[in-house]
Amino acid sequence: MKKHNFSAGPCILPQEVFQEASKAVLDFNNSGLSILEISHRSKDFVDVMEEARNLTLELLGLEGQGYKTLFLQGGASTQFLMVAYNMLQSKAGYINTGTWSDKAVKEAKLFGEIIEVASSKGANYNYIPKGYTVPDGLDYLHITSNNTIFGTQMKDFPVVDCPLICDMSSDIFSRTLDFSKFDLIYAGAQKNMGPAGTTVIVIREELLGKVSRVIPSMLDYKTHISKGSMFNTPPVFSVYVSMLTLRWLKAKGGIAAIEELNDRKATLLYSEIDLNPLFKGFAAKEDRSSMNATFSLADGDLKETFDAMWKEAGINGLNGHRSVGGYRASMYNAMTIEGVGTLVDVMSELERKA
Ligand SMILES: *Cc1c(COP(=O)(O)O)cnc(C)c1O
Repeated sequence: MKKHNFSAGPCILPQEVFQEASKAVLDFNNSGLSILEISHRSKDFVDVMEEARNLTLELLGLEGQGYKTLFLQGGASTQFLMVAYNMLQSKAGYINTGTWSDKAVKEAKLFGEIIEVASSKGANYNYIPKGYTVPDGLDYLHITSNNTIFGTQMKDFPVVDCPLICDMSSDIFSRTLDFSKFDLIYAGAQKNMGPAGTTVIVIREELLGKVSRVIPSMLDYKTHISKGSMFNTPPVFSVYVSMLTLRWLKAKGGIAAIEELNDRKATLLYSEIDLNPLFKGFAAKEDRSSMNATFSLADGDLKETFDAMWKEAGINGLNGHRSVGGYRASMYNAMTIEGVGTLVDVMSELERKA
């Protein structure tokens, strides 16, 4: 039986995408070749890369505004250092809202002065800082839109006069935003776009070339822009499956349509967390993520019973990250409302039993 996959990443993808991808592994576009063995320079694959790039800008509403899209390797973690390598000349600001932001700060410190403009580290990142002042003269401000581990999500974004850079790994393509507020967006595919192995980067090209240091070719955004993400062999399969997922999203009606579904799923689960006395939420209510819901049992003695019940119901990947404990339900775009309904049924069944 197919499980209800609430894993934080690598994550659930649409069944249609799995089916189409599996066909392409055997025979891609009736070419008599597998997608895994074709040249990345072949027309078939060049078309895939181009479609992936175009769909990204189209879905984000960023066509014709000076943005370039890259599909690179090394995960979002490599972007922590690439951003600073390419854009940090003297000092940059970071809003520290979770483990991933903290790691981004650590890497950036290798390249210049880092000002932590705001941080919720002291409260184990259970809220999004607000009311802070962003200092003048920054090379950029770096934020994390959704904190995968802690289940918090930025609802309002800082208005700044320096470039705004956003790690959107776990909520890109999940909600409508004015994406043109951001000068550089990056996201590891495996949270809400595709399989592990590629990272999408959307960047306003005019911001590049302003730092004085020498940048190694592989870490230079300009190299990859000039070669259309084909400076070296790209992660062919990962880009292909990401492209299929973006096609699926477009056919669903794009980000606005999926946001409506994501809101319904989040409302369903958070209502249960709030109404069921056996559970309590981790994140501050106003900052709750529509992608990753973190919660725990009010009474730890029920853990064994609850764990057996959700596993029996075909649910996978519900254990919380070790730095938070409890449970985390990741409800990325491909999670159905029925899947969330199954979890909510198990939670209310526990209340009836206890
Ligand atoms: C998972 C995650 C990362 C790290 O991604 P990798 O691709 O594994 O390097 C970075 N930022 C956020 C917000 C994440 O959720």
